[in-house]
Amino acid sequence: MSNVLIVVEAQPDGSLRKATLNALTAGKQLTAKTGGELHAVVLAKDAGPLANAVKEYGVKVVHAGSAAHLAHFTADVVAPAVAEIATAIKAEYVGAAATQAGRDVMPRIAARLKAAMASEILGVTADLQFTRPMWAGAVIATVKLGTAVKCFTARTTEFPMAEKGGSGEVKAFSPAAPAKPLQKVVAFKEVKSARPALTEARVVVAGGRGTKGDFKDIDALADELGAAVGASRAVCDAGWQPNDLQVGQTGKVVAPQLYIAAGISGAIQHIAGMKGSKTIVAINKDGEAPIFQVADYGLVGDLFKALPELQAAVKAGK
Ligand SMILES: Cc1cc2nc3c(=O)[nH]c(=O)nc-3n(C[C@H](O)[C@H](O)[C@H](O)COP(=O)(O)OP(=O)(O)OC[C@H]3O[C@@H](n4cnc5c(N)ncnc54)[C@H](O)[C@@H]3O)c2cc1C
Repeated sequence: MSNVLIVVEAQPDGSLRKATLNALTAGKQLTAKTGGELHAVVLAKDAGPLANAVKEYGVKVVHAGSAAHLAHFTADVVAPAVAEIATAIKAEYVGAAATQAGRDVMPRIAARLKAAMASEILGVTADLQFTRPMWAGAVIATVKLGTAVKCFTARTTEFPMAEKGGSGEVKAFSPAAPAKPLQKVVAFKEVKSARPALTEARVVVAGGRGTKGDFKDIDALADELGAAVGASRAVCDAGWQPNDLQVGQTGKVVAPQLYIAAGISGAIQHIAGMKGSKTIVAINKDGEAPIFQVADYGLVGDLFKALPELQAAVKAGK
């Protein structure tokens, strides 16, 4: 009977971040095999409302840690509080979604629990090992963690979102503030966009170096489709688009229903971030570009001609 603890993440407005639902599914897959209980931990200034939302998703107990020093989700304050609960409930597995925050906090939680960690897990095997990508997804490794407590981050695109079912118990606790805080949030500047979040969008229109930094047609098609905009690293490194739009191994992992890649060659590190997309459309003037190997539909042509035509066709079809 090994318990599983999942770290819950909130949106800036305090509501539940969907990625947590994917992590909860990973947790459920583990408890189905261990026979243990699924617990979750919410940490916030006032964790109550979010804990009440999470308890609806088939979680046995939601630990709601409220304290003024938890106003910001920094590893400095989150890691000790999660470790405290993990120890108290004798969790064998502690996990989070492989978001930027999850990637930040989980190694610190693992260090505190003297736990081995598997990052970006793709699945759980029958004998409780984890599959995870290596070498930008060129190799899928099966890893066995040998420590008493085991930590993981779950790739959100590989686990469906947990569905509502059953109502768990909420247990409040008051995490102590770290004696010597190492991190201080000096400002929080939220990027406001009318477009959907890149990792949660049903459609993504992404541009690469072939755009030469001109995203006008990418933006227009994205707006026509109600899509999010993504970019290759070449684009972000050039400063043409902000880093938070980068898709790939060192950017965001997305799996929308439709991914349109324009002027992107299809380097392995980019593919690692979008190959889970349901339908991939590639527009590239080089017919030999590797992106065509993963594309469901490929158009060899100039993106500056194709994208406006595509936008006009979508508009006409509405
Ligand atoms: C450790 C590491 C991590 C990395 N992580 C990432 C990552 O997370 N994400 C990422 O994207 N990359 C990543 N990279 C970089 C990656 O290797 C590639 O360099 C990058 O993806 C290339 O971006 P690109 O396809 O936009 O540019 P290019 O490879 O230069 O391709 C541009 C493409 O545009 C086409 N083109 C040009 N003009 C037009 C036109 N008018 N119409 C249509 N097509 C046109 C060209 O034929 C070409 O195929 C990483 C690299 C390393 C080493």
